[in-house]
Amino acid sequence: MSTDVLNFSAGPAMLPHSVIERLRDTLDEWDGKSASVIEISHRDKSFIEVVERAEASLKRILGMDDEWQVLFLGGGATGQFAGVPLNLLQPGRSAGYIDTGQWGGKAIQEARKFGDIVVTASAKDDGYAKLPDLALVDIDPNWAYLHFCANETVDGTQYGTIAQTAHSVPLVADCSSELLTRVMPLDRFAAFYGGAQKNVGPAGVTIVCVRKELLGSPQAICPAVWDWTQQGANDSALNTPPVYAILASGFVFEWVEEHGGVPAAAARAAEKSTLLYETIDRIPLYSNDRATRSKTNIVFRLTTEELEKQFLKEAEANGMIGLKGHRAVGGCRASVYLAMPMEGVQTLVAFMEDFAQRNG
Ligand SMILES: *Cc1c(COP(=O)(O)O)cnc(C)c1O
Repeated sequence: MSTDVLNFSAGPAMLPHSVIERLRDTLDEWDGKSASVIEISHRDKSFIEVVERAEASLKRILGMDDEWQVLFLGGGATGQFAGVPLNLLQPGRSAGYIDTGQWGGKAIQEARKFGDIVVTASAKDDGYAKLPDLALVDIDPNWAYLHFCANETVDGTQYGTIAQTAHSVPLVADCSSELLTRVMPLDRFAAFYGGAQKNVGPAGVTIVCVRKELLGSPQAICPAVWDWTQQGANDSALNTPPVYAILASGFVFEWVEEHGGVPAAAARAAEKSTLLYETIDRIPLYSNDRATRSKTNIVFRLTTEELEKQFLKEAEANGMIGLKGHRAVGGCRASVYLAMPMEGVQTLVAFMEDFAQRNG
């Protein structure tokens, strides 16, 4: 992306500039071969090394030991809405789900095709402005797992911390829009997953992290490409994996390592979102009513829809794109993922202040 344009869209998102440069270099020549990395076999030793390197880097930054299986799959997070019950919900058992919002709801709809799903709590009664407290939701200790979306991209809500549940139950989370911006409390999770195109890399690869002890008993109907056990045994290459997206994601993991790791990325996410919320709360033209606010997807309204249209138009003319809220909730949304620099947020805030001065 041109360095003068700031992409605040919910995804696909911007990548670190140095990663784009590295990717460009890989297109000429790869590992001393005349073919580029996207023109060689996924069975080629040099590509297998790409996968191994990406996996090792991700494990280092999230602190995962050998009890964890990392998978790089196709199909998006949406694919894993089916993948989770197909791999973890054995016939005769139930799983708990929290209706956290747009994405949590889609996960429930899909999972119902594959097993007995109990919706144990919903953010609906709070207009999806506040996530149900994990410490207070009813838990059946016999559930195969409890699923929730850790950061609701559309609704702009997030679990700030992952509170202890009343009874222990394996947690499974859709982390698509917060991957790498939270220090994961790994001991609390059985599995987590996310599409790369929000925080991690280009669209096409979905990251699944699962405890190895949970592998080995997929449902009989589980398609091979969705089968975490088979994919794990084949280093995510049961079929041809999304090679270029894996390479790019690996470069982003290394970029995170070079920039202070996940704790630093989490601190930057806090800093960027705090500045935006402080601006929204300070200037009467803007508002956000979320009680559990997201650090990566900052939704806000202006006082009238007319002003929102004008705001979006002028923002775009000033090189700030993708600020329109999701059609389901309207308004505006600034997605400030991993690669959005603090200066980008400062530019947006200066524009918000100027717009308010002229229209307040
Ligand atoms: C974007 C998103 C999805 C859907 O991801 P796809 O890769 O398009 O399937 C699912 N969950 C969350 C939280 C998202 O932000």
